[in-house]
Amino acid sequence: MAETKYEVIIIGGGPAGLTAGLYVARAGLRSLLIERGAFGGQIINAPLVENYPGFPEGISGAELGALMHKQAAKYGLKTEITGVTGIKAGRTHKITTEKGSFEAEAVIIATGSDYHKLGVPGEETLVGHGVSYCATCDGFFFRKREVAVVGGGDAAITDALELVQHASRVYVIHRRDQLRAGEVLAKRAKAQPKIKFIWDTVVEEIVGGEVVKALKLRNVKTKKTSTLEVAGVFVAVGLKPNSQPFADILKLTKTGHIVTDETMATSTPGFFAAGDVRQSSARQVASAVGDGATAAIAVFSYLKG
Ligand code: NAP
Repeated sequence: MAETKYEVIIIGGGPAGLTAGLYVARAGLRSLLIERGAFGGQIINAPLVENYPGFPEGISGAELGALMHKQAAKYGLKTEITGVTGIKAGRTHKITTEKGSFEAEAVIIATGSDYHKLGVPGEETLVGHGVSYCATCDGFFFRKREVAVVGGGDAAITDALELVQHASRVYVIHRRDQLRAGEVLAKRAKAQPKIKFIWDTVVEEIVGGEVVKALKLRNVKTKKTSTLEVAGVFVAVGLKPNSQPFADILKLTKTGHIVTDETMATSTPGFFAAGDVRQSSARQVASAVGDGATAAIAVFSYLKG
């Protein structure tokens, strides 16, 4: 029978999880990393990561993720590709997955976050056909076309500034009349002639057959509705931490991030969290890597008792 008992189980195979995996495997702990999809986490969508130290020319996110996995595997980190379906804290902690149950003395949660959705008709059906959550990944497909970005935060404005390199016009649709984004980005966007702001407005529907054709909009102040013809819409309305399976056993913030101390220990003994899923994460590859190393070191102390 396959091994089911480990000293450490890491959930999530992005930069935080793979770094924690490298540390615990290299220290000789019996360790398993569970990942539901592909190794690398959100960075696998980034064509070029330029701000991770050690790669002066930059590196693609997919390549960086694959290298991180290779390095951890070299030191004996075992991995399972499966989804976690349940988790129970106890003397040893029980993790149920689609492939069976595992037990661990310590658990490191590095499950990252997912994009918030608008939740409007047309959004789900047109993903990949004009609806996107990643301007860096998909902006290229909208050369000389008109596109919209929804949101008013740093992500939305960064996306809009990136999209002007490809699109002929970029509409930024924001539900208020003031940006949440920082001053520097906001100023840059307002000075960019290809960017047009549509204030106090929400998207009610994304219209299209095979591809996005238009957006149905509603001004929240005047209640007036209108139609905006665009070839693509980039949704940038925040991120949702993947903390749901742990909500009953760990303390979460109001935004659903896992509360940790500076050692990455959570509110429940034996559980640690690292990367974008934890509170106050800087949401960078470099900071996720740092969290993963810190969590692994905390696990060493925890297991020594
Ligand atoms: P965010 O700061 O939470 O902004 C989300 C934006 O989406 C807000 O403007 C919000 O409107 C709007 N929004 C939320 N739900 C909406 C809905 N259902 N319909 C329409 N609009 C909705 O999220 P973020 O921009 O993803 O940034 C997350 C974090 O990453 C921030 O700390 C940010 O500073 C950081 N970040 C930094 C950079 C950078 O510095 N280059 C780039 C990306 C992200 P309201 O303003 O009305 O709430």
